[in-house]
Amino acid sequence: MITPAFTRLQRILDLEARQDWRNRSVIGGMRAMATRWADDARSEDVDPRGVDALVALMQRYDAATVEERPRLAASMQAILAGTADVVTPPVEEAAAVQAEIEEALLEIPLGEEPPEATAITLPVAVSEPAVALRVEVVPGLGKVFESAPDDDYGAPPDPVNSAEARRRQQAAIRRNPRDLQGAVTILPGVGEVTAEQLGRLGIEKVIDLLWHIPTRYDDYSQVRTIDKLEPGEQVTVVANLWEVRERKISMKRSIVEGILGDSTGTLHAVWFNKWIIKQLKPNTMLRFSGTIGLHRGKKSLENPVFEEVDDDRVATGRMSPVYPLTEGLTNNRLRAMIHDAMEGYARFLNDPLPAQVRHTYALPDLAFALQQIHFPDDAEKLAIARRRLGFEELFYIQLGVLQRRRSLRQTVATAFTVDDDLLARYTAVLPFTMTGAQQRVTEEMLRDVQRSVPMTRLIQGDVGSGKTAVAAAGIWTATANGAQAALLAPTQILAEQHHRGVSRLLSQLTRPDGSPITVQLLTGRVTGVAREQVLEGLLDGSIDVIVGTTALIQETVEFANLGLAIVDEQHRFGVEQRGALRTQSAGQPHLLVMSATPIPRSLALTVYGDLDISALDELPPGRTPIKTKLFGQRDRERLYAFIRREVTAGRQAYVVYPLVEESEMLDAGAATAEHKRLQEEIFPDLQVALLHGRMTGAEKDAVMSAFVAGEYQILVSTTVIEVGIDVPNATVMVIEDADRFGLAQLHQLRGRVGRGEHPGYCALVTKTNSDNARQRLLLLTDEEHGRDGFWIAQKDLELRGPGEFLGTRQSGLPGLKVAQLSDIETIIQAREAAQQIFEQDPLVAQYPQLSRQIERFWRGHGDVN
Ligand code: ADP
Ligand code: MG
Repeated sequence: MITPAFTRLQRILDLEARQDWRNRSVIGGMRAMATRWADDARSEDVDPRGVDALVALMQRYDAATVEERPRLAASMQAILAGTADVVTPPVEEAAAVQAEIEEALLEIPLGEEPPEATAITLPVAVSEPAVALRVEVVPGLGKVFESAPDDDYGAPPDPVNSAEARRRQQAAIRRNPRDLQGAVTILPGVGEVTAEQLGRLGIEKVIDLLWHIPTRYDDYSQVRTIDKLEPGEQVTVVANLWEVRERKISMKRSIVEGILGDSTGTLHAVWFNKWIIKQLKPNTMLRFSGTIGLHRGKKSLENPVFEEVDDDRVATGRMSPVYPLTEGLTNNRLRAMIHDAMEGYARFLNDPLPAQVRHTYALPDLAFALQQIHFPDDAEKLAIARRRLGFEELFYIQLGVLQRRRSLRQTVATAFTVDDDLLARYTAVLPFTMTGAQQRVTEEMLRDVQRSVPMTRLIQGDVGSGKTAVAAAGIWTATANGAQAALLAPTQILAEQHHRGVSRLLSQLTRPDGSPITVQLLTGRVTGVAREQVLEGLLDGSIDVIVGTTALIQETVEFANLGLAIVDEQHRFGVEQRGALRTQSAGQPHLLVMSATPIPRSLALTVYGDLDISALDELPPGRTPIKTKLFGQRDRERLYAFIRREVTAGRQAYVVYPLVEESEMLDAGAATAEHKRLQEEIFPDLQVALLHGRMTGAEKDAVMSAFVAGEYQILVSTTVIEVGIDVPNATVMVIEDADRFGLAQLHQLRGRVGRGEHPGYCALVTKTNSDNARQRLLLLTDEEHGRDGFWIAQKDLELRGPGEFLGTRQSGLPGLKVAQLSDIETIIQAREAAQQIFEQDPLVAQYPQLSRQIERFWRGHGDVN
């Protein structure tokens, strides 16, 4: 029977055959397509068993080798053609699998639904039923516990844990306050092996252990005891699984019964799925959640879900910390060590937060806060502890930022001379008239650079708002004043583009003394003699302007007289990199940073607290807003037709693929395969180019220039084109698997089109059915705000959190263990507190311990000294 779904699968299989079984015919792979395809197929009138078998085969496809895939495909084709027995799996274990499936199916009495599809797709071997009689040594008690046969299971043992008690005794040894800074090996029971494991977590000293903050807590304070359960309730209990066994309830059906016990009694549990027995190990402490029902007249938990817990933690009956771990180190062990360390050394902790600050903001002292963050008495005390520790981190950030700003401002920069004529000469060579916003921001920048206090200004401007023209005005000003300027870009492509643009502009200008301005490029690709020459030119001052990537901020790069440093797409760089350009001149360079990703308020108040902010809040005229639309897999044909229409009208299109795997190779592979498909099957008559991160700079360059020159109509690319690329003739941006990108990133990508006179279009393609993901993407199509980069960035931050949004590394933030960047209230308080201290005592000399803490906190994260 040939239906559209069958035809589609048939086509995909044909394509696979042609593409050497690379599993590239379907984006995301065959497996990813299976569920969706099955939905379609089931809605068509076909044999459901055939569909199930096909789905099973499709699910195997991804993991199969290239050699195995033709056989899987042959089976699929046989089913599609109706010539196969639908229940013949194609691989070696076929017979075994088949038997399992049949057995599972036989178990189901007629007229009943199969228990779960799992019995069909994931057949598992049946384990031996649990033995009814079991002899067990209970750890720590040394007592032999014997479970009785059948229904009378006996009482559970006392949950006293003597191992814990022993450990405490051992911990009660002589201690010394200095030992807070001592190696962890001074703790009882911590030897070299453990120390090595702790080292992997960054824990070397006792104090580090105290600062190893739990990632979450298991809350045992709310757990119910067995004696308090009533039928009909939905409950969670923590209990030992004393016994588990399979019981035949009819010729063909079995159920699984278990006996659970806590210190208050025992409880039956029943599962109507006999396979579950594999996962149930007797004598383990588990957390069960389910509904209390009556089974054979007894209160019992029906089909509970369960997970393993450790009895030690439960015994405390409260919130129990769960820590970041490393191989070989259990949570239990780590918790015990931290417990010992807290008990022995917490009282020696000196609180770096001045009492005055603690008092004003009602914060508990450090020892209390650490005690509660590890072993909270209750949720309220935990919240207090978190607030205090988070406040402390934010306070350090603020003080660090204030100090850095101060130390920067104490240095001297070259004050440039700026007059109307200078600016007029620049605007005369600009190919367009500056927007009002560009003029205003240029003025703000030029006002700064006329002072001998170094500028630290951030320009925030949406993609396409024309930041480059402002930056170039700054570069021109610096060079006209006889100083050097550097422009730092995050990617090679962007650096090269800036280099071309800036060279073109400045070649039309000469300095007041009539001398031309030399512009050079320095990226990782400039090597050998060429690099030597650039370095020399920078050092002897013969190069006026250098455009480059991070290759610019290496130690070997020194300037004769760097007057202005510009960092483009600032959010891509850390704080440390901002300040890393070195110069021989006595003065500090003026610093201009630019970002298309608006900095949300919380970050503007923290890491970026040292910057003055200018907003480039106006797009150049003649831009029609980009139309953005969400597309599903089914809309592909329409999408391709649309691309064709634009190309026929003389426009160009981008098709962007996300980083599918954290591997450049695979990433490049996906784009390469898609490029082939688009070129050979969809647009054989057009020129489709390919750009990915594994290509050499020269290759990328060649592709890009050919695309700019219109030799290609379509550019298939990975996210290497994300920032800054400027091809005004491109009008269509197709973003595949758009749900994998952050909103701010999508907004950036979309900004690549609609840069010229023609309207731009952005197609967000996704195969997700998740409502959340779709809703998130739909924010970009929001009538009112969907084009407002700031609103989008804010939403992105809210939805993904600052870690994902910027990445700690990229945000330049020292690692925050407790503080939440979404907690604006605490941020504001910490900022206020820091300002007060700072005003009285900028160097924090009054509080030497605090001062050391700030330094330690910021170490490696900026130039705080
Ligand atoms: P971004 O702020 O994203 O870095 P660019 O500086 O790359 O933006 O500018 C985007 C495009 O807009 C470029 O093609 C640039 O030449 C053009 N452009 C910039 N300012 C103006 C203006 N005032 N009028 C017209 N076009 C402009
Ligand atoms: Mg730009």
